[in-house]
Amino acid sequence: MAEPRQRVPASTDDEHALVLFSGGQDSTACLAWALERFARVETVGFAYGQRHEVELTARQAVRTGVHDLDTGWAARLGDDHLLDAGVLGEISDTALTRETEIAYDTRGLPNTFVPGRNLLFFALAAALAHRRGIRHLVAGVCETDFSGYPDCRDDTIKSLQVTLNLGMAERLVLHTPLMWLDKTQTWALTEQLGGPALVDLTVEASHTCYHGTREQRHDWGYGCGECPACRLRAEGWRRYRGGEASR
Ligand code: ZN
Repeated sequence: MAEPRQRVPASTDDEHALVLFSGGQDSTACLAWALERFARVETVGFAYGQRHEVELTARQAVRTGVHDLDTGWAARLGDDHLLDAGVLGEISDTALTRETEIAYDTRGLPNTFVPGRNLLFFALAAALAHRRGIRHLVAGVCETDFSGYPDCRDDTIKSLQVTLNLGMAERLVLHTPLMWLDKTQTWALTEQLGGPALVDLTVEASHTCYHGTREQRHDWGYGCGECPACRLRAEGWRRYRGGEASR
């Protein structure tokens, strides 16, 4: 019987990372986290018929801000990729993809929720990472404030890492630096990584609100102030400013 062919992983440079980057508070912290650790950091975003172009604008504003904040980060920040995940709009009948009111079910899940969305994003990001010779994927998913999204759970991500590596004959590593942090601790991590300047940039440029509104400026940033995403961000900010993250 012939020896099985020796498989050489396509990703040979483990100093490079790809951040799943939406331009929100969490992925902004993840971008800074990656820039502190990897020689080269690329970003990937997904367009899927969001009625808020605002999210895609926020991505560029945050990237520019992060680039200008630190010369080391500027040297390490690599290409940005925007992938069309518009097929989600064909599956979902929600406010993200149609002009309907955002509503929330009994679990607090908005009708913007597309089941398994993160599974698709990770699979697409892994394929892109393979093409770019990148081994490390970084995402801001979080089990603590996971808003009922089952594909944000730690077990989901660990299982997915195994599945992606088996399915692609890769040695990808999925990093989730925010997995066990609440929003208060994420603000604190942001300060730890980039000082008050990164906190200011996150407040000013990142976008979290489900409704995509930027008319109202709060002390924690822009948003409707009413949706679960805004409330979570506002509450985290209030407790962070009150010094609760350091306790
Ligand atoms: Zn909102």
